[in-house]
Amino acid sequence: MAIASKDFTKVVHAGVHPEPITGAVMTPIFQTSTYAQTAPGEHTGYDYSRAKNPTRDALETAFAALEGSTYGLAFSSGLAAEHAIAQILPANCEIIICDDVYGGTGRMFRQLFAKYGITAHFVDMNRLESISEKISSRTKMIWVETPTNPTLKVVDIKAVAKIAKSHHITLVVDNTFSSPVFQSPLQLGADIVVHSTTKYIGGHSDLIGGAIMTSSKELYDQLQFIQYAGGAVPSPLECFLLLRSIKTLVVRMQQHEKNGMAVAKFLESHKKVAKVYYPGLPSHPQHAVAMEQMRGFSGMVSFDFKGSYDEVLVFIKKLKLFCLAESLGGVESLINHPEKMTHASVPEELRKKLGIGPTLLRLSVGIEASEDLIADLQQAFA
Ligand code: PLP
Repeated sequence: MAIASKDFTKVVHAGVHPEPITGAVMTPIFQTSTYAQTAPGEHTGYDYSRAKNPTRDALETAFAALEGSTYGLAFSSGLAAEHAIAQILPANCEIIICDDVYGGTGRMFRQLFAKYGITAHFVDMNRLESISEKISSRTKMIWVETPTNPTLKVVDIKAVAKIAKSHHITLVVDNTFSSPVFQSPLQLGADIVVHSTTKYIGGHSDLIGGAIMTSSKELYDQLQFIQYAGGAVPSPLECFLLLRSIKTLVVRMQQHEKNGMAVAKFLESHKKVAKVYYPGLPSHPQHAVAMEQMRGFSGMVSFDFKGSYDEVLVFIKKLKLFCLAESLGGVESLINHPEKMTHASVPEELRKKLGIGPTLLRLSVGIEASEDLIADLQQAFA
């Protein structure tokens, strides 16, 4: 699918300017905790690195450029970013959230925020009525993840935004699986976008990070205060690595999509595969919505293995290029068993309802040659 050519320019230049003293083309790693003051309270605008750091400033500008937002904020992990968003909620309110969000997101609301009286209703957002049915005067936030992890359901962001706006409810979209290259939730009506930058934005499986983007000054002020007062900031080295990664985001995503599509088509034609989950395939139940709101489909492909759990284990062992590991979005291909790994914290009953069973596998298709990846899968099936 076509990516706007301006995206190529944006990712190469986002947030980075030659450093004023030396002219260094890459933003330096300002590895400092504190800054000299000329008199008590008189400083350059930088007084302590939890509050402000030049490498992080550059990254936050780049984040905003990626999502076309006014503001960007960097966090020490995707969950730290999500935790900051959840902290804008008042006690004893309600939120409505996709039923198959990332396991850690569900766990955060179930186990950390329930004690403040915050009730999270987990609903199937492919049935828009299921959102409307749960709205009450206490509903303060709707939380969408699309495509979802791991069954890659696609939620219609524009339709959910319409419901959220009509009830003055804040809409959050986790855009991790698409990356900003393939989906722009703020343009579709979301108020806040969140990313685990550990995934596609980082892209090299070598860091943990999170991002928040918003164009609302009111939300930014609250979130920025939580970032400062809560303190879950990334290190200057992590900020530098992310700035470097962002420069290749478009070219990486194009290769992820090309390989993802090739692998999804191969799996769909294989007799040992019962079902493939990939929004780019016409067989995907929300393919039409995906075509409408996404510019591409990334390298995330899930499938149901036709066979027993023991056969699944043999298949995983035989793979040579796909490494068995949690996480996703890196240049190298990974395979994950959601039931036993990333989604083990999801209550068993909900896992069953969502189809996260012993034979479900999730691939993060990397940027290797697609024929090598398909050959690897083929020999493991054989
Ligand atoms: N959102 C999604 C969709 C994820 O897949 C993950 C982690 O896998 C997170 C958020 C949490 O990010 P992190 O692991 O960087 O805290």
